[in-house]
Amino acid sequence: MATAPRFWRENPSRYNLMGFKCNSCGRHYFPPRAICPVCHRKSVGKMEKVKLRGTGKVFSFTDVHEGLEDIALHKPYIVAIVELDEGPRVTAQIIDCEACDIQIGTPVRATMRKLSEEGPSGVIHYGYKFAPVKEK
Ligand SMILES: [Zn+2]
Repeated sequence: MATAPRFWRENPSRYNLMGFKCNSCGRHYFPPRAICPVCHRKSVGKMEKVKLRGTGKVFSFTDVHEGLEDIALHKPYIVAIVELDEGPRVTAQIIDCEACDIQIGTPVRATMRKLSEEGPSGVIHYGYKFAPVKEK
């Protein structure tokens, strides 16, 4: 499979994850939250939409051998909790790890991938997954 179209790989803005920053305590949140769970009322009106860098490291991971039908072709696959550089932890599938040398602390980067394509109208859904950062 020819992986993702070039457009998605080469347009950096497509890699951006949008999160929220609480300007009261400085914590970042992803997915976005309307209210900071730490500051509560103090954060009202102080939540700012920010781009997250999309880089982080593996906090923990699970090797999934029995998946849902729609991703059955990819199994076994790895689902990890990724700790983003800004602090939030997100759960996502890890891709591009043929060797599956994922470990706690492995640096990863968010990447947008086609998740599904619906019917004749061809509505395509994209979502984020994480891939190991290749060492040069
Ligand atoms: Zn806060």
